[in-house]
Amino acid sequence: EINDQKFVYDFTEGNRDLKDLLGGKGANLAEMTNLGLPVPPGFTITTEACKVYLESGSEPVELRDEVSAHLDALEQQMGKKLGQADDPLLVSVRSGAKFSMPGMMDTVLNIGLSDASVVGLAGQADNERFAWDSYRRLIQMFGKTVLGVEGELFEDALDEAKAAKKVASDTDLDAADLKKVVEHFKKIVKAETGRDFPQDPREQMDLAIEAVFNSWNTDRAKLYRRQERIPGDLGTAVNVCSMVFGNLGPDSGTGVAFTRDPASGHAGVYGDYLQNAQGEDVVAGIRNTVPLADLESIDKTSYDQLMHIMNTLETHYKDLCDIEFTIERGQLWMLQTRVGKRTAGAAFRIATQLVDQGLIDEAEALQRVTGAQLAQLMFPKFDEDAKVEQIGRGIAASPGAAVGKAVFDSYTAVKWSRSGEKVILIRRETNPDDLDGMIAAEGILTSRGGKTSHAAVVARGMGKTCVCGAEELEVDTKRRRMTTADGQVVEEGDVVSIDGSTGKVYLGEVPVVPSPVVEYFEGRMHAGADDADELVAAVHRIMAYADRVRRLRVRANADNAEDANRARRFGAQGIGLCRTEHMFLGERRQFVERLILADTDVERDDALEALLPLQKTDFVELFEAMDGLPVTVRLLDPPLHEFLPDITELSVRVALAESRKEPHENDLRLLQAVHRLHEQNPMLGLRGVRLGLVIPGLFTMQVRAIAEAAAQRIDAKGDPRVEIMIPLVGTVQELEIVREEAEQVIAEVQARTGVELKLALGTMIELPRAAVTAGQIAEAAEFFSFGTNDLTQTVWGFSRDDVEASFFTAYLEKGIFGVSPFETIDKDGVGALVRSAVQAGRATRPDIKLGVCGEHGGDPESVHFFHEVGLDYVSCSPFRIPVARLEAGRAAA
Ligand code: ADP
Ligand code: MG
Ligand code: MG
Repeated sequence: EINDQKFVYDFTEGNRDLKDLLGGKGANLAEMTNLGLPVPPGFTITTEACKVYLESGSEPVELRDEVSAHLDALEQQMGKKLGQADDPLLVSVRSGAKFSMPGMMDTVLNIGLSDASVVGLAGQADNERFAWDSYRRLIQMFGKTVLGVEGELFEDALDEAKAAKKVASDTDLDAADLKKVVEHFKKIVKAETGRDFPQDPREQMDLAIEAVFNSWNTDRAKLYRRQERIPGDLGTAVNVCSMVFGNLGPDSGTGVAFTRDPASGHAGVYGDYLQNAQGEDVVAGIRNTVPLADLESIDKTSYDQLMHIMNTLETHYKDLCDIEFTIERGQLWMLQTRVGKRTAGAAFRIATQLVDQGLIDEAEALQRVTGAQLAQLMFPKFDEDAKVEQIGRGIAASPGAAVGKAVFDSYTAVKWSRSGEKVILIRRETNPDDLDGMIAAEGILTSRGGKTSHAAVVARGMGKTCVCGAEELEVDTKRRRMTTADGQVVEEGDVVSIDGSTGKVYLGEVPVVPSPVVEYFEGRMHAGADDADELVAAVHRIMAYADRVRRLRVRANADNAEDANRARRFGAQGIGLCRTEHMFLGERRQFVERLILADTDVERDDALEALLPLQKTDFVELFEAMDGLPVTVRLLDPPLHEFLPDITELSVRVALAESRKEPHENDLRLLQAVHRLHEQNPMLGLRGVRLGLVIPGLFTMQVRAIAEAAAQRIDAKGDPRVEIMIPLVGTVQELEIVREEAEQVIAEVQARTGVELKLALGTMIELPRAAVTAGQIAEAAEFFSFGTNDLTQTVWGFSRDDVEASFFTAYLEKGIFGVSPFETIDKDGVGALVRSAVQAGRATRPDIKLGVCGEHGGDPESVHFFHEVGLDYVSCSPFRIPVARLEAGRAAA
């Protein structure tokens, strides 16, 4: 239970459900402690304390005493005091928000070391080198992350020491060398900050804690939160953890591991281990790690214990976990665990594997995957048969096929991508400074680092293609080029292709082919044995789970038989939006022109008469493709001028003809019509139901075409289920007029064909007034389809066609919304109108059918909202149907 007054929790007091309060790291350290696993003792300062600090600019008054009390207890337990000169207790101060966030302060190790206690530590450990190595690490990390000293200054100083001794690795520096390094580091601190490196251990700890709090609001952290849609007010927890040492010699070391392969989900031993090192060395890629499997021959006892613990963790968390561990002179310590990140493909595989192992049920399996991951799996891949020039191979860190121009720094990546170029960001290794370049790039390629490197972890999180550790590629960022093993040079701007599923790197543009998951949805691939098919089998099973539990039906937006057929293959249960305006394009434009130009009723009727059979044929085909399933046909919606030629083009044509004295009667009339139809705000003008009310015969022609097509299908023993939808209705009166006319036409067609027709008539709810008066509108409507695109546009007063280019970037940057309301439904505003219209509609007409068409119908978060407000179906573009099915299932599970 959460106690508002308590700002510090011992590891024994927390558990994994307290992530909001203790952060992910703290909650899981507590969970492992309580599982009886070997975790070095420590305590966690809550996110609440951080929030108070960030809001008021100072720590809550109670915090200092609470930290002191917990530190006392820790000292008692460990039998030594923080920084005590003859035998110092050392701690790490570790940040840990609810979601792990690159760009925030990480961790300072070895806090408590000073000029005095370093000597004590050397004596205690009987290892002078180790003590000085630990001290130089403290000054380096503390200097960089707490005092804000440029990290390169320390790195250069360390390189200097190595060069002076002519050695390559920091492990080759002895105690005397490291003493000198420490002196040098202290000078750097003094020169850069104007103060001495703090010698008081408690001051070190307090400064580090404050630095963690402050790191919540760095630019990089904010950028990351916006990208990942993490709220800005969560704050971070701080973990204070007693140190264990992997740098005590060859019988010590540190490593990271996954409980199964995060790329395939297969069981096995996955991870990296580094002897005689402290934690940050592994991630930083400073020295080359060995595969975790090698630990078995280095230290069998620890290896066996680690395997046992990993098994315990996986069974306990019922999921893939990643872990950090350290071995101190043969004693294994657990320093972190969390449910591990994984590729989209692995998410599906692991979910089904865990079902098979009996660890989770189908409902839980649905929570282990997302629509976004499914969408990612539907990306195309490189064509395996293409002629390619492979120039290197690295680790397949994050899947996808990315093609772009080589750039070697983040700044260029951003600059080029802003001007519309596709780029691949190539770095030796990435760090949090590269974040905006990574966002801008199509893909990321590094020459160093493994599956757990910064590039790999961040790219996976962003769903971005990444190949890392392509070691034979020599990256020279200063000269903006990279050299292959056989001496070929890739310059900035050269096109490269990287395959995040195989790790292969190619020169030039490699053609792409559709993904196996799409092939499966298209019915061209079935379950089998090779790698792609294993994924397909997993997707197949998860989709079946989703279809079993979901309540929302999923329909497609489709205007022709081809799209309708694909939609059916993808699992559509009908068409939620057939836009009839798409039937007036191409050659048929001329009839619309005739309609617009008609001077007399006769001319107008002739034009409509010519359109009728064309429309009818379209509908017959569509109803046939969707036989037995509902098809919602929307009557003409866009402003008529959209069917006329472009005004400039037309003016030029007229002027030219005039000067050449050629006949141009028709163009001139068209031009006049364009002028006549011109509106300042066409989206708020003569469109939708207004067209039907103003242009006699237009809607009735469309209704007649629909009714005749339906009759023809019934004659042919078909089962058309047609719903006629009136767009842009603002008041029930508009709908009643159109409805009456439509009913008359339908009655005529029935009488003439002798076929009984059951055509539903309904409306879109896409204006605020319609939403507010939905109760009245339902009197005349058998169904509502929420047109959330126009509704968003009219509720916010945003012009959908302009805002993205004009001010949305600023809005997103200022955090006014985390995502465009045209992409994910604005629940509080637009969503509230939908919710109340649903209730009002059902109050008037309990069996009213309710759906949504438009972009939101295929957006994962919006689908959950539509489930929650009780719609009957969502409708989206054919390609997004699988995502909508999956999310509808996840919402219901
Ligand atoms: P990050 O979130 O960047 O992984 P961590 O807090 O996990 O930051 O720490 C960075 C590295 O330092 C990790 O490898 C971790 O295992 C190691 N580490 C953290 N605390 C300790 C400790 N008390 N003793 C030994 N190593 C530690
Ligand atoms: Mg970190
Ligand atoms: Mg960590």
